Amino acid sequence: MAKEKKEKKGTLSEKSYKIAQEHEKCIGCGACVASCPSNWELGTDGKAKPIKTKISEKELACNKEAESVCPVQCIHIK
Ligand code: SF4
Repeated sequence: MAKEKKEKKGTLSEKSYKIAQEHEKCIGCGACVASCPSNWELGTDGKAKPIKTKISEKELACNKEAESVCPVQCIHIK
């Protein structure tokens, strides 16, 4: 009898994504901060910036929302 043994190591297929922001294009509207406060904040220059630029699959939805609400489309996630 074949004994099936499937073990998944948690670290194997964790996909990550990279956030790029064209900071100079940001108009400081705060839409990204409102939709994804866990990873976006307004800086002292009045423009938003990502807290982390490398995010996991779990953090993707929130940051995708930020990308889609940005009126000047300066947030890019790859
Ligand atoms: S939504 Fe876009 S323009 Fe508005 S603060 Fe965020 S990055 Fe800047």
